[in-house]
Amino acid sequence: MKKWNMIIDVAECTNCNGCTLATMDEYVGNDWPGYAAPMPKHGHRWIDIKQKERGQAPFVDLAYVPTMCNHCDDAPCIKAAKNGAAYKRPDGIVIIDPEKAKGQRQIVESCPYGAVWWNEELQTPQIWPFDAHLIDQGWTETRGQLSCPTRAMQAVCVEDDDMRRRAADEGLEVLRPELGTRPRVWYRNLWRYTKAFIGGSVSTEENGTVDCVEGATVRLLKDGGKLAEMATDNYGDFKFDKLDENSGAYAVEIEAAGKPKKTVPVTLAESVYLGEIRV
Ligand code: SF4
Ligand code: SF4
Repeated sequence: MKKWNMIIDVAECTNCNGCTLATMDEYVGNDWPGYAAPMPKHGHRWIDIKQKERGQAPFVDLAYVPTMCNHCDDAPCIKAAKNGAAYKRPDGIVIIDPEKAKGQRQIVESCPYGAVWWNEELQTPQIWPFDAHLIDQGWTETRGQLSCPTRAMQAVCVEDDDMRRRAADEGLEVLRPELGTRPRVWYRNLWRYTKAFIGGSVSTEENGTVDCVEGATVRLLKDGGKLAEMATDNYGDFKFDKLDENSGAYAVEIEAAGKPKKTVPVTLAESVYLGEIRV
C-alpha cells in the first residue's frame, strides 16, 4: 500500500517561514473534527524551522531545517496514549485525536522530537497532522509545501520499499535514526545541519607583500592516515566538510610550491575556521 512521506531539502530552505505561516493559516481558529482541534494563535509552531550557524567569520554558513511531527512508524506517542488517542492510519499518517487525547499531557512528554504541542486552553496535545483533512479530500500537496517558494518540501505517497530505495539512492536521512522511531519525514543535505567542517586560508609573504596561495595541496589527516585531499582555491581557501562533530584530533597538512610543508593540529568540536595559515 502506498503511504505518505515528506521529503525536505535542507539546502533549499531559506527560513522564510512560509510553511509555518501557511500551517497556522490552516489550523488557527479552524476546527477539523477527528483531525485537529484549533491551533492557538500564539505559542505553537507545528512546523518549526531550526537553524544552525557553522564556523567563524569569514567562514560561516547557515542551515535551516523545517521540523514537524515525523509521523513515525514506531511512534512513542502512540504507545504513551491511552484509549487509542494517538494512532497510525493505513496511509502512514499519525493522528492525535483531539477529543480522546484531552488531558493526556504524557503524550507531549513521550515525543523525543518535541513535536507535540500542548494546547492549554483545550487541555489537549497537538501535532501537525500532515494536513490529513485535506489529503482525505484528494489533496496531493500540503499547505506548507504549496507555500514554499523554493519547493524545499515535497509530500510523496509511495510504497515503503520504493521510499527506502529512493532514500538510499538520494542519500535521504531522518532525524535521530538511533531512536528507532522510523520517521516518515526525510531530509536531503541534512549534513549541512548535523556535520562539521575544518576550513582555512593559506597565504604567503614575499618582500612585505601578503598574497593568498592558490593550488596549494591540503590534506586532512586522522590517526596518521589521509582522510581527504584538496587544492586551495584562488583565495587560498580550503574546506573539509561532512565531518562528525566532537570527532577529536585531526591534522591539516599544507604543501605549497617552494615552501616547507606545514602541519596544523586541530581538535574538532564544532565547525572551525583555522584562519590565515602562512606558509
Ligand atoms: S514525531 Fe513525535 S508526535 Fe510525531 S509520530 Fe513521532 S513520536 Fe509521535
Ligand atoms: S516555506 Fe520552504 S523555504 Fe520557507 S521556511 Fe518553509 S521549507 Fe523553508
